[in-house]
Amino acid sequence: MSAAEQPPETEHRPRGRRRWGLSPLDWRSHVIDERRDHPIGVLKAECGHLLMMVTTLHEAPYGKPCDACAAHQLASAMIPCRDQ
Ligand SMILES: [Zn+2]
Repeated sequence: MSAAEQPPETEHRPRGRRRWGLSPLDWRSHVIDERRDHPIGVLKAECGHLLMMVTTLHEAPYGKPCDACAAHQLASAMIPCRDQ
């Protein structure tokens, strides 16, 4: 292994980057943590909802946010960053 490996995350995003994906099943936007372990071929939302891998992810909720994901996103946003 060489020492030139990229760090797993960029400096200005210390926590997992979260984006919103609109599900065609319930027409709600679900929060996707891109660093989470996702099953092959799908994206697993914070609430457990599965979205297709081809789902377009947005920086902000697209349409109605899923209630569970919105609550989860709010809770994680209120946790202060523990980096100095
Ligand atoms: Zn959800």
